[in-house]
Amino acid sequence: MGIEIDNGNHLVFSANENFLDFCKDIESKRTLKVFPPCFGFFDLKEKKKWDLGLENSLFKILFSQKKTLIPGSKIFDYFSFLKFLITNNNKSVYELVGKSGIYNTFWEPLTIGVMNTSPKEASAKVLSNVLKKTFFKGQKFCNILQPSLNWEQTLIKPSSEFIKKKGNQIQFNSLLKEIEIKNDMVTNLIFNHKKINIGDNEKVILCIPPTNLNKLLPEIILPKDYNTILNIHFKIKKNILSKFKQPIFGLINSISDWVFIKHNHISVTVSNANSMNSIDSDKIAKNVWEEICLYLGEKIEFLKFQVVREKKATYHQSTKNLKLIKNLKKIPNNILLAGDWTQYNLPCTIEASILSGKKAIEYLNN
Ligand SMILES: Cc1cc2nc3c(=O)[nH]c(=O)nc-3n(C[C@H](O)[C@H](O)[C@H](O)COP(=O)(O)OP(=O)(O)OC[C@H]3O[C@@H](n4cnc5c(N)ncnc54)[C@H](O)[C@@H]3O)c2cc1C
Repeated sequence: MGIEIDNGNHLVFSANENFLDFCKDIESKRTLKVFPPCFGFFDLKEKKKWDLGLENSLFKILFSQKKTLIPGSKIFDYFSFLKFLITNNNKSVYELVGKSGIYNTFWEPLTIGVMNTSPKEASAKVLSNVLKKTFFKGQKFCNILQPSLNWEQTLIKPSSEFIKKKGNQIQFNSLLKEIEIKNDMVTNLIFNHKKINIGDNEKVILCIPPTNLNKLLPEIILPKDYNTILNIHFKIKKNILSKFKQPIFGLINSISDWVFIKHNHISVTVSNANSMNSIDSDKIAKNVWEEICLYLGEKIEFLKFQVVREKKATYHQSTKNLKLIKNLKKIPNNILLAGDWTQYNLPCTIEASILSGKKAIEYLNN
């Protein structure tokens, strides 16, 4: 397309303290853009638009003017929030709030956006943990953070520079092919180009997604199912951007979940998108663009598009898979597993992966 794009529209809540600390360490906080948590929604079937302002506390949404409510909802529907205060590990989001009047318009898009998993299977406990850190705490914790330019400038480049400044190196194209284990201890790591011997007092941190890890440690029982996140990036003429009044909005009863108006393109996210893995990119782009035109209420054109399919964006964050991860067995004694998926109390996010990194450092220091 001739412009720089991220693979997806990763957004981060201002509640994500590990992410913010990390950006401070790598001196990239100034590259972040903060959006207040007020989202526009458009229901394509009902042809209704509304704004959901989470800058109001839940109490205010419930007891202030009716106009802050989602169309068709009643105050009673919002009491479904309270169910998340006491949920257990076995319930899916659907089991908890599937009958709520705001299921289709709120709980379903929220769960898919946050967990990339259908609410019918997504763990209510994980969503509850997110709500407790964000919506239940107030606006300060619900602002949306995104890079002003892209994630390369906010995370990748500054963290690579930070690592180099500390005298360390990143070795690209080093594929770990085999792990040698003796008496429950890793003794050698065999890469495509070299072998590293692990001394008696040394420790190994593996930050590898579950399927790849399973090739190296086949004894461990890990989740095998993943969910796609699909992004369709549209290059457009600059004058079209001013037609959009909100930088981020959600679509309901649609293929598209979230639409992001960037400084030089429009990017649409479809989460939990395994069903679209085999659909032709041209067809996806055409249908998604039609939804954007319906939202605007006028026919506009795009110049070029790019579909990015991340088929293993996150593992399927179901109650069943979470139990698997919580009870991992047969891990050699001198290994610590890191990566977003290891933080089973949180969804698979940048926050979770940074938190796992912090825990890995604590493990090394002990
Ligand atoms: C399209 C998309 C949208 C997303 N949206 C959001 C969002 O809005 N907000 C959010 O917070 N998060 C989002 N995420 C999730 C977020 O990107 C991840 O949680 C995070 O990047 C995970 O980082 P990680 O380091 O744990 O794992 P990864 O980034 O998966 O890194 C694992 C690394 O291990 C390497 N590896 C695998 N096998 C081997 C091997 N055998 N030897 C050597 N190396 C190996 C891989 O090459 C890879 O570099 C999104 C993800 C995608 C794909």
